[in-house]
Amino acid sequence: MLHCSASAAAATLVCANASKRAGLPSTPAGPGARPRRVTDAPLRLRLDGAALVHNWQALARRSGPAACGAAVKADGYGLGSREVVRRLSEAGCRDFFVANWAEAEAIADVTPAVSVLHGVREEDLAGARRWPQVRPVLNTERQIARWRDSGGGPCDVMVDTGMNRLGVRWDAPGAVFEGLEIETLVSHLACADEDHPMNAEQRVRFAAVAARVPARRYSLANSAGIFLGADYGFDLTRPGLALYGGVPCPAAEGVIRQVVYPEAQVLQRRRMRAGEAAGYNATYVAPADQELAVLNIGYADGYGRGFSDTGTVFAGDIACPVRGRVSMDLLIVDVSAADVVEGDWLTIDYALERAAAASGRSQYELLTGLGRRFDRVWR
Ligand SMILES: *Cc1c(COP(=O)(O)O)cnc(C)c1O
Repeated sequence: MLHCSASAAAATLVCANASKRAGLPSTPAGPGARPRRVTDAPLRLRLDGAALVHNWQALARRSGPAACGAAVKADGYGLGSREVVRRLSEAGCRDFFVANWAEAEAIADVTPAVSVLHGVREEDLAGARRWPQVRPVLNTERQIARWRDSGGGPCDVMVDTGMNRLGVRWDAPGAVFEGLEIETLVSHLACADEDHPMNAEQRVRFAAVAARVPARRYSLANSAGIFLGADYGFDLTRPGLALYGGVPCPAAEGVIRQVVYPEAQVLQRRRMRAGEAAGYNATYVAPADQELAVLNIGYADGYGRGFSDTGTVFAGDIACPVRGRVSMDLLIVDVSAADVVEGDWLTIDYALERAAAASGRSQYELLTGLGRRFDRVWR
C-alpha cells in the first residue's frame, strides 16, 4: 500500500516535472535539419550559434589582415556541417575546408567556396567538375597530373613543410607546380599547439615556397597557428577546433567560448546504500548512502569510458559526479546534492579542456566522436 502511493506520488511528480522542465522546442526545419521524427531523442546537443559566430569573429580578428576560413570536415567536427556553414557564411566566412568529396557534396548548395583537403582521386573526377565553387587541394604529383590532364582549372595545392603527412615536399622543383591555376597554396603546422622549434621552421620553409610558387593566396595557420603571431597568418587562416569551442593553446583561453552542450534525460532515480557498487565491474563502491540518476547517454554516443568515475554532469549549477563505468547507452551520476527526477534533462560537462583532462581524450576526439543519436538543437 505504502509502495503504491509512493509510486503514484512519484508519477505525479514526473508529470508536473515534465511540463515544468520539459526540453527546448524541437529543431526548426532548416537546411541542416533531419527529417522530422515522431519522437524526440532522449539526448541532445544544445549548440550555441552565437558562440560559434563569436569564435569565428574572434579568430578572424586575430588573423589580422588574413581572411579567416573554417574547417568543416568530419561533419563540422560533429556539430553538423550544413548548419555550421550556413551560420558562418552569414557571418562573412567565405572559405570552407572538408576532407573528401562526399563531405563537399553535403554542403555544396550552401557554401561560397569549398576546398577538398584530400585532393582528387580517379574516382572523384566525374563529380569533381559538378560544382564550380568546389576545388581540390592537390597533394601529390599524381593528383597534380590527374587534375591537369582532366582539364585543369582553379585548384589549391598542399605543400608539406615538415610534417610528412599530405603534400608535395617544400623543396620540390618548380616544374611540379607549372601549368596549375593555384588559388591557394596551403601548408599545415605539425606543432602549432606547443612552443616548438618546428613552428618557425615550417613558417620559414612556407615563406620560401610562397616566394617561388605563384598562387592567388597563401595559407598556413590552423586554430593554434592563429595564436602563434601575425607572421603565421599569410592571406588565409583555417581554424577548425577553436570555432567549435576547443581551446588549442593557453593564449586561446578566455577568447574562445563553449559551443557544444550535450544533454541527456534521466531514465531512473535510485538510492544506493553504503557499501553497494554501481555499474559494470563494480568499480565504484559507495562510502555512504547516495542518490543516483541513470542517464540516457553512453559510450555509443561518444561519451567514452574514459569518463568513468571522472566525468561530471550538471543539474542546474550543481555538479553531479559520474559513478562507476560508463555503459554503452547509460550513465550513472550522483545526484545526492540535486533535486532531480525522472524525465529531467541534465547537462554533461563538456568544456573541452576540462573534459579532455577528465577523459584522457583529445578535444578533437571529444567533438568528432559525438554520435548520431543526439538531436542537434541550435539556439
Ligand atoms: C583540420 C585541418 C585544419 C583545422 O585544424 P584545427 O586544429 O582544428 O584548427 C586546418 N588545416 C588542415 C589542412 C586541416 O587538416
